[in-house]
Amino acid sequence: MTSFPTEHSEPPVFKTDDQWRAELPPAEYSVLREGATEAPYRGEFTDNHRQGVYSCRACGAELFRSTEKFDSHCGWPSFFSPLAGDSVLERVDTALGMRRVEVVCASCHSHLGHVFSGEGYGTPTDLRYCINSISMRFDEGAAD
Ligand SMILES: [Zn+2]
Repeated sequence: MTSFPTEHSEPPVFKTDDQWRAELPPAEYSVLREGATEAPYRGEFTDNHRQGVYSCRACGAELFRSTEKFDSHCGWPSFFSPLAGDSVLERVDTALGMRRVEVVCASCHSHLGHVFSGEGYGTPTDLRYCINSISMRFDEGAAD
């Protein structure tokens, strides 16, 4: 979470746009590679309360655990912390005229969602990692 990738820095898992486009279905490509946001309350993991680990749908890196997921009622899966500090990278996003902090996969720099702070959810970090379901896969099992 301490390094900020630039537009041109190369992630550990590097593929060209053409490769990503060939591998990912269009809906996944538009979120993961173009930063789109899925519609709220539609994602398959928003109300998933099963125990397990969420990984990047583009590259398979483990990102979040069920133990840090909480019910934010915002319409997207929400976590108060990533699986590990180096699982994700955060970068400032000023699209749409708002200053938001974008969350990307540390391994392949695919777009996951945004992180918001100070909303008063009463979680240990007071952070809300608001993540698109379509950016992740879920593997049921022990979360640690
Ligand atoms: Zn990834």
